Amino acid sequence: MEATLDLLAKASYFIAAVLFIVGLKRMSSPVTARRGIQWAGVGMVLATVVTFVAPATWGPAGVDPLNLGLILLALALSAAFWVWGRRVPLTDMPQMVAIFNGMGGGSAAAIGAVALVSASAHSGACTAEAMAAHACLHPTKASLAVLGALIGAVSFSGSVIAWAKLDGRMDRRYVFPAQQAVNALLTVAAVISGVLLVAQGTPLLWLIALFFALALLLGVTMTLPIGGADMPVVISLYNALTGLAVAFKGYVLQNEALMIAGMVVGAAGMLLTQLMAKAMNRSLGNVLFGSFGAAGPAQAISGSQKPIEASDVAAMMAYAERVVIVPGYGMAVAQAQHKVWELTQALQKRGVQVKFAIHPVAGRMPGHMNVLLAEAGVPYDIITDMDDINPEFPITDVALVIGANDVVNPVAKTDPASPIYGMPILDVSLARNVVVVKRGKGTGFAGIENALFYADNARMLYGDASGAIARLVAGLKEVDGGGH
Ligand code: NDP
Repeated sequence: MEATLDLLAKASYFIAAVLFIVGLKRMSSPVTARRGIQWAGVGMVLATVVTFVAPATWGPAGVDPLNLGLILLALALSAAFWVWGRRVPLTDMPQMVAIFNGMGGGSAAAIGAVALVSASAHSGACTAEAMAAHACLHPTKASLAVLGALIGAVSFSGSVIAWAKLDGRMDRRYVFPAQQAVNALLTVAAVISGVLLVAQGTPLLWLIALFFALALLLGVTMTLPIGGADMPVVISLYNALTGLAVAFKGYVLQNEALMIAGMVVGAAGMLLTQLMAKAMNRSLGNVLFGSFGAAGPAQAISGSQKPIEASDVAAMMAYAERVVIVPGYGMAVAQAQHKVWELTQALQKRGVQVKFAIHPVAGRMPGHMNVLLAEAGVPYDIITDMDDINPEFPITDVALVIGANDVVNPVAKTDPASPIYGMPILDVSLARNVVVVKRGKGTGFAGIENALFYADNARMLYGDASGAIARLVAGLKEVDGGGH
């Protein structure tokens, strides 16, 4: 009976793994992404259902009530998160992703803790029989248990700090003295205690506690100073680390579904991290152990913000040849994407060439703007990446910035003391005319002044993005004549 169940579980895990991989492949294009999520979801349901027939759920006398109770509790919790996930607005998605990352990392760390604590209760020699009965740890398993626990614990506490920053609950860039030395010391201490745990075979309880305390502290101190432009890279890194930790735990538990799902998440997350870091002109080491910009007072910005009326902007755009629209977080907050597409179509009807300029970290998650524009029906061929659109700004008549701030801030190039110094930006200020839609004088995620808003060629169209764009659409209708 047990052999049949085992075979059934292994075959189902294999199918689930194939579904994860096919799902991930389909997520690589916006056209097939929705289907990809569904394929991966089916894989996850299968892996969950199979857990009920997997031998680990069964004791010698049938189903182990403790294991079954824990599985049902986990399912009830995930159902609650499912309900929450459906209600979370897209703009709060990064916080949710940070929490989910943290829970994945925390679970991997918890599995490591259980494996180590069970092994610590073993007395006598760690014989082959004792290892087979999971009473003590095989050195390879012990190494992976410790490595997975280290990565999982760092990812857990780091993700909690990332969540607090993204949710505006704490200072975005908390620099403390001797930060690099403290982090280096904690890393070395955590690794040494981990090596000792493996070497002991039957680990001591106090050493296990010390190891986890060091790893959790390291996650906190590593994430505290990271803010502004580095945040997207860090979220993606913790996602990858969680995947890796889960893969190691899959090996410890000898669970194929965990191994494959973890490796897929780890590998995909690492690729995304590298892409994000490259787009931000940063190395991973820089993100983790350095920080954007140097300390010191920011350079003063001269000039004033000059307001403009919607009807004037409408006239300016109606008679333009080229308009580039730069969407940012504010467009997402206002859910203005549908109105923006309406405006685009009205301009296109008049013969104006319209393109969208997308910064890699615009909004609050990778691909945020692409998702919103796709949802509104904007065709992909007028959506342009930063590197392709930047050379076009000098020949652009009107750059319309909608709720974007940090990603168009020229101080990233001019002020070495700025927390976003070095981050590549959209060169909006090179356009002939710049119109910025925002509600007032609010700063962006990095919390700094924007020199663009004070530039001679920039005008401010104040208001909620949705209302402001609606006024532009109305203004265009009032413009006399039907083309150039
Ligand atoms: P920002 O957060 O820099 O700026 C958004 C601007 O939108 C604000 O200045 C705000 O000004 C305005 N705004 C807010 N609500 C509205 C509204 N309803 N209508 C009109 N305007 C509004 O956005 P960006 O997209 O330029 O930059 C993204 C930032 O987020 C970067 O610093 C990036 O590093 C960070 N980040 C990105 C992540 C990613 O993966 N993409 C993840 C985590 C962080 P006002 O209040 O005056 O209206």
